[in-house]
Amino acid sequence: MTASKQEKTRPVGMLTSDDCGTYTASVQELLHSVEANHPNYDPQIIIKAFQIAEYYHRPQVRDSGEPYIHHPLAVATIVAELGMTEPTVVGALLHDTIEDTDYTLEQLTSDFSEEIGDMVDAVTKLKRSQLGDRAKAETIRKIITAMFADVRAVVIKLADRVHNMQTIASISQDRQERIARETLDIFAPLAHRLGMESLKRELEDLSFATLEPKVYDQIVQQVTLEQPAREKILQDIIPVIEEALEANKITANVLGRPKHYYSIYQKMVIRGRDFTDIYDLLGLRVVVESTSECYVALGTIHGLWKPVPGRFKDYIVNPRDSTYQSLHTTVIGPQGKPMEFQIRTRDMNRNAEYGVAAHWRYKSQVPGEKGIRHNPMDLLWMKRLRQWQSEDDDPRMFLENLTTELGGKDVMVFSPESDLFFLPQGSTPVDFAYAVHTEIGHTCAGARINGKLVSLDTELTGGDVCEILTNSSPDAGPSRDWLQFVKGSKTRQKINHYFSKESKDLKAEAGELALAKSRQLKHSGLDLQKVLTVPYLTAVASKLRFTDIPSLYAAIGDKKVSIRQVVDQLIAIEGGQESAVEAAMKHRPFLTSSRPMVLSTASGVEVEGDDDVLVKLARCCTPVPGDEILGFVTRGHGVSVHRTQCKNVEDLQNSPQRILNVSWVKDSGVNYLVTIVIDGLNRPGLLADVSACLAENKVSIVTAHILEGQDHTARMTLSFEIPDPLFLEQLMKKLSLVERVTDVRRLNI
Ligand code: MN
Repeated sequence: MTASKQEKTRPVGMLTSDDCGTYTASVQELLHSVEANHPNYDPQIIIKAFQIAEYYHRPQVRDSGEPYIHHPLAVATIVAELGMTEPTVVGALLHDTIEDTDYTLEQLTSDFSEEIGDMVDAVTKLKRSQLGDRAKAETIRKIITAMFADVRAVVIKLADRVHNMQTIASISQDRQERIARETLDIFAPLAHRLGMESLKRELEDLSFATLEPKVYDQIVQQVTLEQPAREKILQDIIPVIEEALEANKITANVLGRPKHYYSIYQKMVIRGRDFTDIYDLLGLRVVVESTSECYVALGTIHGLWKPVPGRFKDYIVNPRDSTYQSLHTTVIGPQGKPMEFQIRTRDMNRNAEYGVAAHWRYKSQVPGEKGIRHNPMDLLWMKRLRQWQSEDDDPRMFLENLTTELGGKDVMVFSPESDLFFLPQGSTPVDFAYAVHTEIGHTCAGARINGKLVSLDTELTGGDVCEILTNSSPDAGPSRDWLQFVKGSKTRQKINHYFSKESKDLKAEAGELALAKSRQLKHSGLDLQKVLTVPYLTAVASKLRFTDIPSLYAAIGDKKVSIRQVVDQLIAIEGGQESAVEAAMKHRPFLTSSRPMVLSTASGVEVEGDDDVLVKLARCCTPVPGDEILGFVTRGHGVSVHRTQCKNVEDLQNSPQRILNVSWVKDSGVNYLVTIVIDGLNRPGLLADVSACLAENKVSIVTAHILEGQDHTARMTLSFEIPDPLFLEQLMKKLSLVERVTDVRRLNI
């Protein structure tokens, strides 16, 4: 059977594209696309696959009336342009044969290889999507299965979708809309997840053109109209940048950013912004050779134009989504117009455009170069894939996790900037606000879904674009009513945390005031200037068994401690017992600045089911109470406690059997070592101002590392001890207000 079928295909000898009849030109184009990335490729196998696909699809025509083979040929070309190697190109040529023709999987496997057979099988299983509500969940489940089998099958599926969208005009209006909607809901986010931004842009623009043809045309028209003026600005600016870079011995490729109609649409409709506002914003990309050149280029650009504070993002050191690397900054350009810059190396740029495909794109040997050329980005992607694939030994766990990632159980909601968030079913704008940022959640005052104002308890549905309106007044805060309708447990936790903190703050404030104003204290004969100071109050707090002064104040405010008790303690200390102050100081070393810090050995953490185990707080992420934590059994050094958000946790999860549940002990009286990272634009006195801010808040630094970049940036890594984790957030907020500080964050998050 196999043999007789094979006779019908051309004899296998040296094949050339001339053996492809009327398709010679198209096949040549395909071969050129493969060759561009893989000069040592094997054309034979591709021509053979073409001939088989052409032969078996011969009786079929597409909806447009053209021979069916046009489709697999186009899909193969897209895949080749992404940089995939021969097996994927062959898989793309044959991707519809098993489903739609007499060609069998057994034949395919024997004609080519098991590898290609399995790949086409995985693509085939991705088809046959049903209609209706369950189709989406079903499709996502299939994608995950395919991804698990071979991520190249998913790349073929995405290319298949691109070509189907490109040729969508010939099918019925109903089907057009359904397919475009599905593309926008599932395939564009999938492309984004796989880092394939060029495919994502194309899928979004094609879906947008199908779903909103009039608006699409209007935007295209406006862009075309503005194009000459924009080109003119670019022509003026690019040489200025190139010249300045050349002065620093950097050869860079400076370009305008690619057009993306759908994102213009989202900004216009959802943010209600004017076309000219959006289009005025000039996006530029600077592509250089090396990572160090990225930073020099950043400095050069900041030297040319004034940077907008708070807009600098270093995704090179901290890759976004673990995979995207680039520097981002915004400067005030000529005529006061803001310009957004993306600065990256060529490898980073290819990675940002091709994502996971970059792995195959740079796999082959390059003639004249020694060995295999490795794209450093590749490692990031392989790590990410491995992570997806080895989350747990149980594949069901992996499927579950990835289902959640791709929105199987969750609703996918976009921010106006088209960032994608996955939220539990039934989530509301408040859940969304907290998912974006805790502070946005706390100050959330209203919401727009798809451009319309809605009440905060409105349920979000998949594909919604949600915009949060915030209240900027200093006493803005969440409402207890929200607890009635929010869906996410994390949201609930954050709201509760806010209120417990707020009530403690309020009580402490009341307590402090009550003490300062009290007649008992005034009539005690004590020197108020002397005793109402940190050392004395710390001593009192310690005597009365409180961890710190705010806790003492809160207890006074709560009437758990009377003013009388405090005054008695102060008198006792003043009355010849000054050593008590000193003793207290030793007990609370964080308040002294001159002595080296002694960390308490107690961790303040308990391990579930075991109270006799050595527990240490991890230095990499310095957890404090209130943080979500997990324990990791180290080899010979007890249990180390990390924040669940810590970057190292990703790696730890490869050994799930060593992960333990741990929890914070309430009021353990322990001081916590915290490490924070402060980024800023360097200026004289920056460090002095940061230190002054810390001193004002009675924090003394244990260790400090300062890294000054050539590009006028400075990064300070500071460790200090704090007695009360609630205090940390306030402190970080204050630090972020120091002039020229661009970012304050906990280490390793
Ligand atoms: Mn197809």
